[in-house]
Amino acid sequence: MAEVSIVSCESYEAEECERALGQVLEPLGGLEWVKSGMCIVIKANLVGAMEPKKGATTHPALLAALTRMLKARGARVIIGDSPGGLFNESFLNRVYKLTGMEQAVQAGAELNHDFSQKVADFPEGKVAKRFSYTAYLDQADAIISFCKLKTHGMMSLTAATKNLFGAVPGTMKPEYHFRYPEPLDFAGMIVDLNSYFKPKLFLVDGVVGMEGNGPTAGKPRFVGALLAGTDCHKLDMICAELIGVEPMAVPTLRAAANYGMIPESTQDIEVAGDWEALKVTDFDLVKQNKNMQFRNIFPGKLGGLFADVVKLCLRAKPKLNPSACIGCGYCGRICPAKAIVIKNKKAVIDRKKCIRCFCCQEFCPEGAMEVQRPIIARVLNR
Ligand code: SF4
Ligand code: SF4
Repeated sequence: MAEVSIVSCESYEAEECERALGQVLEPLGGLEWVKSGMCIVIKANLVGAMEPKKGATTHPALLAALTRMLKARGARVIIGDSPGGLFNESFLNRVYKLTGMEQAVQAGAELNHDFSQKVADFPEGKVAKRFSYTAYLDQADAIISFCKLKTHGMMSLTAATKNLFGAVPGTMKPEYHFRYPEPLDFAGMIVDLNSYFKPKLFLVDGVVGMEGNGPTAGKPRFVGALLAGTDCHKLDMICAELIGVEPMAVPTLRAAANYGMIPESTQDIEVAGDWEALKVTDFDLVKQNKNMQFRNIFPGKLGGLFADVVKLCLRAKPKLNPSACIGCGYCGRICPAKAIVIKNKKAVIDRKKCIRCFCCQEFCPEGAMEVQRPIIARVLNR
């Protein structure tokens, strides 16, 4: 049986979505494992109150098509997510409305309205041995993670693995950025979330992805691909190469590699479908630093010291585009390090406090925060 499956999907027309979903799932054994009476929670990517045409959220037509397939097998279907911000009725109702979730409701899905939280103990976790999560996930007999294919300021790529960060309640997310300020530790925490929740199936909406200043302020980009897999890390390796991202530049994949969870190359992954034909060669990427690779130049402590110096020289940082900033102050409210103040109706970042989590870049409603890489990093990453 294949580990990853990919098919072309030309549009979000209902018939096309159903055809593509049926076809992409077939090499993975279809939905035979779904039995009547099961509760299936679809963890979608509903990163904000944004219309589907923005390319930031899992498209409702695909969620509706999947819901119809699951309902046909007698399952109960709940769709949920906890984007950055409040995890409550009024905030999520706005997100559901603008992301077009009514379409999935008409197909028979329920939208999550349980906004309680729980704490999980996970001693097996590599990084996150105890974490808070959205309690509605406990209703699931099985979780299907259905994400969007996008660039990401902090993580290079957001696809199958990163989607599970939505299991952390929105109000807690800044604290997690502060707790794990280094991208590799933050990535390790997200790898742990996937190991804890063990979604049965991962789907990636790559019909229209997002390029550039993702995951919320980039541009929609037609890719025309629908992907599925049973292992989020192997699926992300394929997603990365599909849009021209070096897999080891993605912190979650780097962490998975450190934990021995992924093969060295995508050639070692059983892929069903002609993914070479679907590759996009000019996807506008958020390029990340390669500083971690400098650790191997010198052995021992010298290597570590050298890597730390290089890291300081190469780290990307958030940068304001003043002409786009409307001074709303949202970035300052969500900044976990309290590093942003509004002066003269523009956001000002205190560089000494900034932990480079890129929450401000991710959630600025105007796309006014961008990822800036030092010149030396741009030359080395060219
Ligand atoms: S959230 Fe965006 S628009 Fe609002 S103050 Fe911050 S940078 Fe400016
Ligand atoms: S200024 Fe932006 S990148 Fe820096 S800590 Fe605050 S939210 Fe994170």
